[in-house]
Amino acid sequence: MKIKLAKTAGFCMGVRRAMNIVLDAANEKKGKLYTYGPLVHNPQAIEMLKQKGVEILDDNSVSNATVVLRAHGVTPDERKKIKEAGNIICDATCPHVAKAHAIIKKEIRQGYKAIIIGDRGHAEVNGLLGYTDGNGFVVENIADIDNLPELDKACIIAQTTQDRKIFQEIIEKIKKKIPDVKIFDTICDSTNMRQKEVLELAKEVDAMVVVGGKNSANTRRLYEISLSVGIPSFHIEHEDELDNLGMEQYENIGLMAGASTPNWVINKVIDKIKYLLKKRKSRLYRFLESVGDFIVESTLYLSLGAVSMCYTSLVFQDIKPSPTILSIAFFYVFAVHIYNRYTERLKDEFFDPTRTGFFRDYGKPLILSATIAAFTSLYLAYLVGIIAFVFLLFSYLMGIIYSIRILPEKLSSLIKYKRLKDFPGSKDIFVALAWAWVMIMIPILKQEIYFSLQSMIILVFVILTVFMRSVIFDIVSIEGDRIVGRETIPILIGQKRTLGMLLVLTVIIGAVMFSSAVSGLAPTLGYYLILSPAFMVMCLYAFQKQRIQAGRLFEAIIDSNFILTGLVTYLWRLT
Ligand code: SF4
Repeated sequence: MKIKLAKTAGFCMGVRRAMNIVLDAANEKKGKLYTYGPLVHNPQAIEMLKQKGVEILDDNSVSNATVVLRAHGVTPDERKKIKEAGNIICDATCPHVAKAHAIIKKEIRQGYKAIIIGDRGHAEVNGLLGYTDGNGFVVENIADIDNLPELDKACIIAQTTQDRKIFQEIIEKIKKKIPDVKIFDTICDSTNMRQKEVLELAKEVDAMVVVGGKNSANTRRLYEISLSVGIPSFHIEHEDELDNLGMEQYENIGLMAGASTPNWVINKVIDKIKYLLKKRKSRLYRFLESVGDFIVESTLYLSLGAVSMCYTSLVFQDIKPSPTILSIAFFYVFAVHIYNRYTERLKDEFFDPTRTGFFRDYGKPLILSATIAAFTSLYLAYLVGIIAFVFLLFSYLMGIIYSIRILPEKLSSLIKYKRLKDFPGSKDIFVALAWAWVMIMIPILKQEIYFSLQSMIILVFVILTVFMRSVIFDIVSIEGDRIVGRETIPILIGQKRTLGMLLVLTVIIGAVMFSSAVSGLAPTLGYYLILSPAFMVMCLYAFQKQRIQAGRLFEAIIDSNFILTGLVTYLWRLT
């Protein structure tokens, strides 16, 4: 039983860019915000934007507002009217569409007429026509060619979502009618690739689910392609529509989504299919799977990972692993991460609905357990010594200060960031520092030894490894973070640069561990610990290539890195 998610499912570049522009503008909260027409043909995405205060503008009747031009683009006249009404324009026109605008402008200036092959009345086609200065014609099908006037020279442009086969057929006929034609294939590859992939996928699976708005033309086309292969195909907007479709009977289910379908909608559909497929599995399997999910979701697995990292840190510094220190690491990480997840559960509604549901069901007992864990860790630190207790208490206090407003109301208009939490990437840095603080400083206090060079090396290792883990999850949750307005590193510097940064960090960790081991400044364990960042980069690569999907399993794999580190240390110690 498998769900095969198409690589091209979901937002295309143009729609993702437009959505990011709108969300960034909404998060800045600078007055009224409109999109010029619905941003995407997807009811859930429109509803989410509405919740963020983004309204849809159907005419030019507003003034002194910010108006976002959607990916389809608009005519120069519409643009002028919006501006003249005193609005600020945020241009989210897709670069592919903008390129077609530029071609038309240039060709019209050179005396060519423009023939646009596309759907008459479609917003993008209207926008393209607007650039022809009244010298443009729309051709929807072969029959329309006969209605064209006598033309000496014309340029041909395609609506970006046009079917390439139809485009070619129309061109061939136009060439026979007009002596001088210039052809510009402005069809966007994104549509093409999506259609090709759904065709290929439909041949490999038993049934296909196509997710997207019922009014989305590109989603409907994907559904039709899948149907044409002869497999059961379902076009759904919402995961609840899967009830009673008999998904349980299929062995392999393909999942494709239109260009305007957000990832969180796709995630909800995946979760629902998984839930339906679960019914086919044995009770024991379902029980074990639920236990596994609980262990990961409740951060118990991560807390065990913290114990494992703490063990490595102790061995590396030649400190005898003590159950008290390992327990402090466990309870501290459990408490902090549960509080964190609980406070962020609303963001997860968009990105990870399963987590939201989990905290709806178990939130209260988990918060109680986290509070008990926090007091237990403090008590254990007290047993270590009063300084260790103060160190740990300080760590918890920093966690509280991190989330509360530190900037006076008066300065709010001058400085965007009011809490430490608001600084981009601050969570990743704080979490990494907190782990290192608890795993390195408290053991040192217990042993009453000095902070050595080895302590420094393992400190760098722990900080960078925990930081990398945190950034990887930021990459995974980039869509949800943008919706709730959280500025993470991938949002600030972009996904590509973040990946580059992670690679650089991997090299730094590798270089530090290798050089310290080879020079004798650190134990030979350093060589083996290079495995840790390498493992994380491999996981990230698999995620980028869609070999693993975001979710419980991905989280468990990433957190297994900590367990792996402890295991490597244990084996090294045995040798
Ligand atoms: S389908 Fe292509 S042209 Fe249209 S918005 Fe997406 S990327 Fe741009």
